[in-house]
Amino acid sequence: MTDALPESSQQLRSELLFLVKALKGHIIDHNKFAAGLQWKNLFSAADIIVDNDQNAERELSNIQRHMADCQLCPLGKTRRNIVFGSGNPHAQIVFIGEAPGADEDEQGLPFVGRAGQLLTRIIEAMGLSRKDVYICNILKCRPPQNRNPLPNEITTCEPFLKQQLKVISPKIICALGTFAAKTLLRTEIPITVLRGRFHSYNGIPLMPTYHPAYLLRNPAAKKLVWEDVQLIMKEISKQQYSLPASREINE
Ligand code: URA
Repeated sequence: MTDALPESSQQLRSELLFLVKALKGHIIDHNKFAAGLQWKNLFSAADIIVDNDQNAERELSNIQRHMADCQLCPLGKTRRNIVFGSGNPHAQIVFIGEAPGADEDEQGLPFVGRAGQLLTRIIEAMGLSRKDVYICNILKCRPPQNRNPLPNEITTCEPFLKQQLKVISPKIICALGTFAAKTLLRTEIPITVLRGRFHSYNGIPLMPTYHPAYLLRNPAAKKLVWEDVQLIMKEISKQQYSLPASREINE
C-alpha cells in the first residue's frame, strides 16, 4: 500500500518512523537511567501528571500514591507517616511550611499541632477555611527530634512539592518561616528582611511570613503576619478573585 504513495509522502513516512523509533529508544533509556538512580517513583509520578484529562484531585492522589513508602532519603526509616499535604486541589493560596512535627507525623496531616491551630486561625481571619487553601511542607517526612532539614533531604523531596504546585497552580504561595522562605527563594537573606513583600517562586508570587510556631513564642509578631496576609488578600482581589471580608486573628 505504501508503494502507492508519492515519493515525498514515502520519505515523510520513513522520517516519521525513524523519529518514533528514536523516541521509543530514548524513553527506554530514560526509564533505565531513572531506575538505576532509584528515582523511579519521582519519574513515574511526573509521567502521570502529563495526562491533562485527569482532574487535580486525582493527580494529587496519584503523586501521593507514588510516594507511598518513599525511601528516597533516610527520613523514610524514621517517620511514621508521610505528610503529603491537605486542602483544596484548586486552591488559589498554598501555605508551605518546613517539615512535619510529631503531631503531623502521628496523624499524617500538615499543621495539626499547636502551631497548626494558630495557622488555622490565621486562615479563618482571612475569611477562609482550611478547605479553601492548600497546606503542605518542603519535606514530607519528619526529621528526627525536629532538627532542621538537611540539604540532601530537601533536594530529594522538592520535586514532589513542585509536582503538587504544578497540579494546584496557585495564584499565591505563602512561605511559613525562615526555613521555607530561604529554601524556596534560594537565599540566605533573613525572614525579617524577606517578609512584607512578594517574591517569585517559579513565576508564582510568594509572600514569606513568620512561622506560626514563632508566633507562639513571640505573639507581638502577629501584627506583622497580619500585614503580610492582608497583602496576600489584596493581591488576590487585584487578580479579581472574590474573598469573604477579613476578620482579626484571634488568640
Ligand atoms: N511545622 C511545619 O513547618 N509544618 C508542619 O506541618 C507542622 C509544624
